[in-house]
Amino acid sequence: LAPEYVRAIAPYQAGKPIAEVAREFGLDEASIVKLASNENPLGMPASAKLAMQQAMAELGRYPDANGFELKAAIGAKYDVPQSWITLGNGSNDILEIAAHAFVQPGQSVVYAQYGFLVYALATQAVGARAIEVPAKDFGHDLAAMAEAITEDTRLVYLANPNNPTGTFVSAAELEAFLKAVPAHVVVVLDEAYNEYLAAEQQYESTQWVRTYPNLVVSRTMSKAYGLAGLRVGFAIAQPAVTDLMNRIRQPFNVNSLAQAAAIAALNDKAFLQQSAEVNAAGYRQLITAFDELGLTYVPSFGNFVLVQVGTDDAAGARVNLALLKKGIIVRPVANYGLPQWLRISIGLPEENAAFIAALKSVLA
Ligand code: PMP
Repeated sequence: LAPEYVRAIAPYQAGKPIAEVAREFGLDEASIVKLASNENPLGMPASAKLAMQQAMAELGRYPDANGFELKAAIGAKYDVPQSWITLGNGSNDILEIAAHAFVQPGQSVVYAQYGFLVYALATQAVGARAIEVPAKDFGHDLAAMAEAITEDTRLVYLANPNNPTGTFVSAAELEAFLKAVPAHVVVVLDEAYNEYLAAEQQYESTQWVRTYPNLVVSRTMSKAYGLAGLRVGFAIAQPAVTDLMNRIRQPFNVNSLAQAAAIAALNDKAFLQQSAEVNAAGYRQLITAFDELGLTYVPSFGNFVLVQVGTDDAAGARVNLALLKKGIIVRPVANYGLPQWLRISIGLPEENAAFIAALKSVLA
């Protein structure tokens, strides 16, 4: 029924839902701690909830197909005109729109080993060939990625910070890479975790698009902004590139409630600040415990940490199952080629503590 390249796709494995784990392991839903999907442990901002309540009155109408007000808010925040913005149903949608807009079957897409799994899915969905470049110290080897680009490459996916490894490449390295990429290749710089970077690591990628006509900066409202369930992402790129992405985009891909909530969240500086603070404290809490337990982890710039829980290739699955039985949901990453590791999303202090206590007893 489908082309070979569609049949070859391995479905995306999301974090196990709380209700499913409760039923499977006979646990009370309220006692379960989910640190599996890099969600914001603070939940959604109250400002966004209020905006959604107000937007409820208009749900009989279609959403604004072009997201005028939301793009105005994004444009004001990132200092770009509306014609430079593409809205997505989550940033996964942006990643997929880029593949559909720029890549034909048989052409190639470059991304890194341990790159976000959706890069592989989006590449396969358009019948393109993946060029997966070996990672360096769990992160992107940008020089090797630039070298891997061929005549038929049309797209590069690059996450900074990267998921699931949490690694970060500096602004200087990124700019050197952008200069090395030929003009026929679009670079999607996926900055889903950008808001967690400390001030000294921040860089002006949303302004780099003025210099690099083939750069697409992708952002999400799912992480630090706390709106994962609403599905809002956006891309910033020059108008010629944005226009092409908008031709592929479904007209109503961001619903009315999501648009209203996103505008409120974008302007809620206090919530964003609190998210970053909770994350930084939670990170210290987790790595302190890992140090005490003598566990190896990859220093992370995101809202999650990759930790090695054993030295045999069944370790990730074994520890994951033992944690599930104790009501702790984390993310196994064997499908990334990391069977000895687990990815732990950073939670509230008490959630992190529950995970740490469970991990200690599982590893004892
Ligand atoms: N990019 C990266 C690197 C991610 O980790 C994620 C979330 N797992 C996304 C994009 C997609 O997030 P969303 O579709 O919720 O915006």
